[in-house]
Amino acid sequence: VSDVLVLAEHRRGELRPVGRELLGAAHALSEQGLGPVVLATIDAEAEANAAQAAVGALLAERLPAVVLAAHGRGALGFAPALAARGGYGFARDVTAVNWERGELRAERGVYGEPVRELGFPGKDTVLLLLRAGAFDPVDPRGAELEQIELRPTPDARVRHDGYLDRPVEARDQALGEADFVLAAGRGLADEGAQGIARMQRLADRLEATLAVSGALVEGGLAPGVRKAGISGRRVAPSVYVALGISGAPQHLAGIARSHTIVAVNRDPDARIFEIAHYGAVADAFEVLGELERRLG
Ligand SMILES: Cc1cc2nc3c(=O)[nH]c(=O)nc-3n(C[C@H](O)[C@H](O)[C@H](O)COP(=O)(O)OP(=O)(O)OC[C@H]3O[C@@H](n4cnc5c(N)ncnc54)[C@H](O)[C@@H]3O)c2cc1C
Repeated sequence: VSDVLVLAEHRRGELRPVGRELLGAAHALSEQGLGPVVLATIDAEAEANAAQAAVGALLAERLPAVVLAAHGRGALGFAPALAARGGYGFARDVTAVNWERGELRAERGVYGEPVRELGFPGKDTVLLLLRAGAFDPVDPRGAELEQIELRPTPDARVRHDGYLDRPVEARDQALGEADFVLAAGRGLADEGAQGIARMQRLADRLEATLAVSGALVEGGLAPGVRKAGISGRRVAPSVYVALGISGAPQHLAGIARSHTIVAVNRDPDARIFEIAHYGAVADAFEVLGELERRLG
């Protein structure tokens, strides 16, 4: 049976966290009857044309049944073109994938649209872009895998001259990849933009990434890219600390995969306490002030 090929991006040698989810999805497919999992790694910053050539050559050689890549800037830059050129099956925004009775099935669930069930009749190779936060992660170190390191070589269309050394700080990190998230809700809106600025400063000092609830985005107090939830970013950090967030279903759906959730809310009946591992019925500003004081 043909392989399940995982195309995982690395940044300067470090695998992006979503790669572990791709592996989880791949192992599940393998257990359902598809072939062994093969892990191919590729530089997340490779130019799209170079990545397309390198991945295209690998697919032509291996003819895997399924290729799983992360739905994101990297693969979106070349995967649709590659699929069109190779005649492969293709879907983006995939939130579930299964091998059922010899047939590949996927679900595509973009927020606000009905979830589509997809099949790929007559396709021997199908390229799927998986949404982060939707699959159980597997650690590549514990897994027995064939590993291939792709080395896209730039062609004449573009030349990469090196890096400007600008490390990504926690505050600029994409929410979906953050390991420690500090989240603010409407409970902090009483101080207007000032409350959110205080949260940002605290997040900077704790090396956390700031998230907000939908209420703050609607209120114009924070940009949409910082929204955690079903219509924002799905997050899966080690620690998620929520201050003044009620726990609306649309918010909870996006944070449920956090390893440890800590909630502060002055309402003991707030829904966020239903999924929080640690909770404090307290005033968010008091907690914020205390944290600021302790950090000096
Ligand atoms: C189609 C759709 C999609 C949506 N998508 C998202 C999404 O992706 N993400 C998202 O977050 N929302 C989303 N929403 C909005 C969502 O329904 C809620 O309105 C929103 O999450 C509420 O944000 P909140 O918890 O900050 O505010 P509220 O629900 O108003 O809760 C504020 C909480 O703060 C507490 N509080 C107030 N003052 C204090 C204080 N001083 N100290 C401590 N606690 C205090 C209150 O007790 C309350 O529990 C969506 C809504 C719709 C209709």
